[in-house]
Formats: sequence, structure tokens, C-alpha cells
Amino acid sequence: MTPRHPLPEKHPEATPRIGVIGGGQLGMFLVREASRKGWHSVVFAQSPGEPAVQRVSREAAKPEGVLPPVLASFDDEIAQDRFLDQVSAVAIEFENIPLSFVHKAEERGIPVSANSDILATAQSRLHEKAAASLLGIATPTIRPLRNHHDLLRIETEAPAELFPAILKTNSGGYDGKGQCRVTSIDELQGCWDLLERRPALLEQEIPFKRELSILVARNRDGSVVTFPVSENRHEQGILRDSICLSTPTVQSRIDAYAKSWAGHFELTGIVCLEFFETIDGELLLNESAPRPHNSYHWTLDSKGSNQFATLLDALVGLPLSEPRSDFLPVRMTNIIGEDPQTVFERIQGSQQARGGHILYDYMKKECRTGRKMGHINSIL
Ligand code: ATP
Ligand code: MG
Repeated sequence: MTPRHPLPEKHPEATPRIGVIGGGQLGMFLVREASRKGWHSVVFAQSPGEPAVQRVSREAAKPEGVLPPVLASFDDEIAQDRFLDQVSAVAIEFENIPLSFVHKAEERGIPVSANSDILATAQSRLHEKAAASLLGIATPTIRPLRNHHDLLRIETEAPAELFPAILKTNSGGYDGKGQCRVTSIDELQGCWDLLERRPALLEQEIPFKRELSILVARNRDGSVVTFPVSENRHEQGILRDSICLSTPTVQSRIDAYAKSWAGHFELTGIVCLEFFETIDGELLLNESAPRPHNSYHWTLDSKGSNQFATLLDALVGLPLSEPRSDFLPVRMTNIIGEDPQTVFERIQGSQQARGGHILYDYMKKECRTGRKMGHINSIL
């Protein structure tokens, strides 16, 4: 089969120049990791206060490494060209960027960590569900709600078992935004109005036993590694904490799904899949994220290659390190809408951790309700 995303036949460059699209904390960690490897990086961000841009100004004090950021709107074509002129590979840290930006990189033969197929799928919940069904991965039952016709159809045909359900916008959601819980069919229209009648899908609410995610990395030569499964706890739709699990049976089932997703999309980079595990052990795909994922921040302290380093290796065609068998069990706790230092002191005082607690402050200027301000890794 001819690959849809052919990559240039070349050996990894001695000093790759990594373009990072997105200025958030995931970008910040990518810049840090590229610097540690002695590689160059350039951030494309929309505003100067973002964590990755802040990181750039700190790294810039070093002789080699970080080039000045490109600060512009993601759809600014002149800025896109200026950015792509400087880089040999592109890592994406944020899904909601114009696909045309990625197409432009691909047309120039620049490897992108989320190619346009896997990214287009991640940008649409309906496409994600379709891909899951193609790959034999179960999902919660859904009904598309794209227009008035769909609304009438759901109102006349939807089975009562679909409720309670969650109405989710098809694209653009994060941290539980763009969602509305629908307890019965009578509430559907009102909820859709709240979501400004944007294309959406109505998804059965799953009384899950636990939420799990899996991170897989795939290299341009098709070699694949998966990380240990992560168990995740959300509060009000926002990830609160994640812990790495040692659960061989679930791991092998979830690994197979992750590998088929990465292979199907000819990924060079990493992708994280989020699942609901039901009471009777079924795994239902919730969503995909072809980028570093909050639920794998514990890899920063678990020994071995962390998710950011692995992404960079996969992207430039370096061999992927197998996750170590002696990795340290770590719990990651997000700091949401609070001052990182204050939370760190509180956790240190209240929770024992064998290897202590490590604070990651995203250096965000403004602390807002529901905003991820940092995280703490506790070595268990
Ligand atoms: P993320 O921050 O992961 O990108 P998101 O805004 O894309 O989040 P989801 O992952 O769809 O949204 O939902 C956020 C959380 O809300 C889930 O992790 C889960 O806790 C809860 N949730 C979402 N859909 C369902 C469902 N169908 N059944 C039960 N809980 C759900
Ligand atoms: Mg999610």
C-alpha cells in the first residue's frame, strides 16, 4: 500500500529544528525537552503571555537552542510561511488549528507529529466515532445532531435508554467545554440552544467503573511503543488526577486499540486515546488526542523517556525507547484555578509520597476558575 503520508527518505538531522504549534503548557514541555536534547525549537503561538513563549525567553539565555517565537493568529499565512521556513519537523500541541496549516507543512515535505488525517479526525467527534467503528473499537451510543432534521429524528426515534445523555459540540471542545447534560428528550432542544445550535452529537452517558487512557508512539519506520495505562479522574469535565496503572490484561487490550489507531493513520508522533471502562469490563472510546496528553504528565518523573521526549524521537525518526519495566509509580495532580505554590505547600503538608512531590508551574499570568495552572507529580 502506498503511504498517504510519505516522509522524506533521510537520516535524522544532527540538530533538528522543531517547530511547535501552540503556546500552551504542552508546548512549554516540548521546548524544554528539545533544549535538553540540544535541538533547536521555534514556537508558533497566538499571544506572548503563553507558557511556551515564556519558556522560550528563559531558554534563550542559553547559547544554542531556542529561536524567537512567531506570534500570530494560527490562520496567518505569512506567519505560517515564516515559521515553516525555519523548521525541519513540526510538533502540534493544540488540536484546534486550521488543517490548512498542516497541509502546508506536508506539501513542503516537513514531518508533522499529527498528520492531517489523524488531526482532522481528532477535530471532529463524529469522525472519531466513525474511525473507531472502522477499527472495531466500541464507543458510547451516539446520535448526530447537525441540523433541524437530525433534531426531529432524535425526538421521534431516539430510544429512552439513550438518556441521560451528554450533548457535545462536534468540534472545538476541551476541558468539558461545549457540553450539556440532557436528562430526557424534553431537554434536548434547550441544551442545543445553549450550545448555539452548533453541529453536535448526543452521546449516552456511561456509568463507567473508571476512565483510562493509553499513549502510543509510532515512528516513521512503523515501530510502535505504548506507555503503561493511565487511570484518570475528572471533576466537572476537567482532569483532576492521573495515575499509572499496572494492569496487564487491560493493558494488552488497550494496546491493541492504540496500535491499530496509530497504524491506520500512519502516525509519526504520539496519540492518546481516552476510554471509559464499564462495570462489566468493556472499553468504550471517548476521544483521541494526537499530541502530548495531560494524563501522561506523570511520565516526567517515572524514569525512562517521558511523553515529550518520545514524541520528538518519533517525529525525527530516532529509535523509540521501550517504557522501562522498573518505572516509578507516580500520581499527577492538576492545579486548577489556584496558585500553584499554595497548592504545592498544602499537598506537601497533607500527603505522604515515598519519593516526594514535584511542582510544575505553568507560569500563567492570570489565575482563572477552571484554568490549569500547573501540576504536581507525587512519587508513590
Ligand atoms: P478533554 O479536556 O479531555 O479534551 P473534552 O472537553 O474534550 O475533554 P470529554 O473528554 O468528551 O471532553 O469529556 C470530559 C469528561 O466528561 C470525560 O473525561 C468524562 O469524565 C465526562 N464524560 C464525557 N462524556 C461522557 C459520557 N458519555 N459518559 C460519562 N461521562 C462522560
Ligand atoms: Mg477528554
